[in-house]
Amino acid sequence: MAPGTRLRVAVVGGGISGMAAARDLARHHDVTLFEGGARLGGHAHAVEVDDGAGRPLWVDTAFLIYNARHYPRFCQMLGELGVDAQTQRADMSASFVDDDVNMRFALLRGAGGFAAQKRNFVRPAFYRMFAELLLLRRRARRDLQERRIAPSTTIDEYLAGYSAPFRHQLVYPLASAIWSLPGRHIAQYPALAILGFFENHGLLGGHSGDAWRTFVGGSVVYVDAFRRAFPGAIRLDAPVRKVHRLGGAVQLSFGDGSAVFDRVVLATHADRSLAMLGDASEQERRVLGAFSYNQTRIALHRDPRVVHRDRRLWASWNATTRGGRTRIAYYLNRVQSLPTPRDWFLTLDADDDDPEIAPHLRERTFSYRHPIFDAAAVSAQRDLPALNARPGALTFFAGAYAGHGFHEDGVVAGQAAAAALERTAFARPLELPTLQ
Ligand SMILES: Cc1cc2nc3c(=O)[nH]c(=O)nc-3n(C[C@H](O)[C@H](O)[C@H](O)COP(=O)(O)OP(=O)(O)OC[C@H]3O[C@@H](n4cnc5c(N)ncnc54)[C@H](O)[C@@H]3O)c2cc1C
Repeated sequence: MAPGTRLRVAVVGGGISGMAAARDLARHHDVTLFEGGARLGGHAHAVEVDDGAGRPLWVDTAFLIYNARHYPRFCQMLGELGVDAQTQRADMSASFVDDDVNMRFALLRGAGGFAAQKRNFVRPAFYRMFAELLLLRRRARRDLQERRIAPSTTIDEYLAGYSAPFRHQLVYPLASAIWSLPGRHIAQYPALAILGFFENHGLLGGHSGDAWRTFVGGSVVYVDAFRRAFPGAIRLDAPVRKVHRLGGAVQLSFGDGSAVFDRVVLATHADRSLAMLGDASEQERRVLGAFSYNQTRIALHRDPRVVHRDRRLWASWNATTRGGRTRIAYYLNRVQSLPTPRDWFLTLDADDDDPEIAPHLRERTFSYRHPIFDAAAVSAQRDLPALNARPGALTFFAGAYAGHGFHEDGVVAGQAAAAALERTAFARPLELPTLQ
């Protein structure tokens, strides 16, 4: 194909990965972005609530925070969209409450949090936990540097020598809050992913060197800016059912018809992308089929019973153990500095009839899917670039699942898919961005 030819390109999936791919491709091609739902953003999902005084207030229900150091491409995108100033510092405090053994403390909140239960200072278990934290910090840093942790080692296996309270009251709740996954899944998570994240973000040291940020007015700010600036076509409520490769083109089928494009980027979750392919190759089945997903129910509500009754312990991320079950609640007022006297919480793993959330204080419940980064997925990640680099390829794949599952990974994967499309279509030697 002659360089400079304008292609008809479809991007399927309007999350950060699809938006990143569509933005890059629309510089040279006619791009249509298909989103199955009624709005763009995917996990960037802010909703409007009442601030208590009859005014609208936007609160985020999934993607909440990012930072400049680990999200360089996302930050660049925000700058290009002109919304980088519509952000503010996020409060990164965390509290750990175990009502079963009557222990509670908060991290990153100054003396108030630690003083919340003065008895902690004379508790051997409390000191032991902090001694173990220092030990883990030293050991994990060394093991990461010397590449001693196998990709298949779970965090539970890695922490086998540490006390149960340290694992269950500190490490797993912290990881659970970061990955927005119920605690029961965290124990089987790869140690490499968790410890690498902790180390990169300074969490093992008890303080984060990164200035985490959040959007003033919710992530809808950047999603709207994308929509306004995007030169291509956007089709909402347009779930793609099937993708068939014809000789030199691709046919997309919807509920009510079909359309043909020169190239397609599938920026949906790996299993959904695979399910769309009516003619999946063995390589596609092997690579995309290696990713599995966990579905999490998340409730947006105003019931303060999910946190401790002592407000000094209300941190941005709260892990509360009762009756042997540890639950995670985000206190959005702190994370997002919400200008409202009403309290807003996001509780992970919340059933519709959750006894801890009074029905009249429940706003909405959402269902989000997370990639599970087990050994099969980590191995498949290494094969993804090759899938996008096949000579004559008509379909390309992107998603945060290609990296650590965060927003920056979505941008990197979307841009990598766009670059691969350009390179394979025009045989241009273009460097693929490396996934972090
Ligand atoms: C509760 C929660 C909190 C999180 N918090 C953070 C955070 O603070 N910071 C961070 O960096 N990351 C966070 N993440 C991780 C987040 O998943 C990623 O950052 C990122 O948003 C994932 O983007 P994606 O484009 O890969 O997938 P998605 O955002 O899921 O986008 C995929 C899109 O494809 C659409 N789609 C699916 N099937 C079809 C179809 N057949 N046809 C058309 N469209 C289709 C979907 O509707 C969706 O819009 C969080 C995740 C969750 C669940």
